[in-house]
Amino acid sequence: MRLLLVEDEKKLSELVARALRQESYAVDVADDGAQGWEFAQAYDYDLIILDLMLPKLPGQELLRRIRRGNHGVPILILTARDATEEKVQNFEAGADDYLTKPFAFAELLMRVKALLRRGPIARSSVLRVGDLEVDRLAQQVRRAGKRIELTAKEYALLEYLAAHPGRVFSRTMIIEHVWDQSFEGLTNIVDVYVRHLRSKIDDPFAVKLIRTVRGVGYGLGVAPEA
Ligand code: CA
Repeated sequence: MRLLLVEDEKKLSELVARALRQESYAVDVADDGAQGWEFAQAYDYDLIILDLMLPKLPGQELLRRIRRGNHGVPILILTARDATEEKVQNFEAGADDYLTKPFAFAELLMRVKALLRRGPIARSSVLRVGDLEVDRLAQQVRRAGKRIELTAKEYALLEYLAAHPGRVFSRTMIIEHVWDQSFEGLTNIVDVYVRHLRSKIDDPFAVKLIRTVRGVGYGLGVAPEA
């Protein structure tokens, strides 16, 4: 695993780099934002640890630039700032985790390991199954480019199925993920909603996307090759 550490406080960056190398990670250290940007463009890192207050190029700008070109690499922000509003802004700009200085190395290592376990993070907001597009940010659905209006529950059901194309879910699983604890109806509510969905996303089209697997449940799209 190769990590990039962008931190201008020499003492801190040396300590952090040493702690990470002891865990057998390869660590490149950039002393300012501009160098961080050079490194981030030159190498394909598994994780980037980024200080916010940086000379030459502010950490926030660096974060945005990295995210523009690389959606997957996990980014851990290291900062003295503790304002919630700023945290929110940075998460929106693509940060995956946050550590406020001063921090314990044990906590840094724990967070680094957790992020690396997750691996590259899928950040696209659009799920695609065939010519069906489910935009999770806008909560909009299109098929063959045509906008399809769904109710909130129909959308939630479709999004759940579209997040795992090819997989078949039992009615119970679908209820557990799409409905909440206040739901006390019968599992055939799923059949009712699948019927509604079919009439909107399948009936007007030649290729049918929603699959019924008898005795098992429902899925979207073709089954993955065994
Ligand atoms: Ca700094």
